[in-house]
Amino acid sequence: MHSIRLWAVRQARFFEGVYRIFEPVVVKLQPLWNSVGYQRAEKPVSKLESISKGLLFDCKMCGQCILSSTGMSCPMNCPKSLRNGPCGGVRANGNCEVNPEMRCVWVEAWDGSQKMKGGDKIHVVQLPVDHSQKGSSSWLRVARNASTLSEDHNEASR
Ligand code: SF4
Repeated sequence: MHSIRLWAVRQARFFEGVYRIFEPVVVKLQPLWNSVGYQRAEKPVSKLESISKGLLFDCKMCGQCILSSTGMSCPMNCPKSLRNGPCGGVRANGNCEVNPEMRCVWVEAWDGSQKMKGGDKIHVVQLPVDHSQKGSSSWLRVARNASTLSEDHNEASR
């Protein structure tokens, strides 16, 4: 798993491109999510998300994905679960102070972000993780947020 995760970070530019195509598709599927119901869609979609992102990124299904802001390195693999890193304990060789065998998730994040077109997003300060979202689908969250935004926009233009 760890080596696949490191490989995925090295391919950060590629996965950034994949997500740029994937996100609008998920948003465009809003009529489907609405007809099925977000709650009913949650179980199969989160399962699919967990399998695919678990394999590639060691995803922990926090429900608030920030991979595209962290060079495709999942911050939830940091033993301190830091959403803004690194901490002050990175070893001289770039490894983690808690797990000396593991390269720091945030050192990886920086390397991955340097490969990405939108790599500057790593400078954005992230909100603390909301643990109530754990296990839920980030993909559906993106679709739901887009749906809420377009409803608000329609209301405002009436
Ligand atoms: S940030 Fe959250 S949703 Fe994204 S890969 Fe990591 S645990 Fe999974």
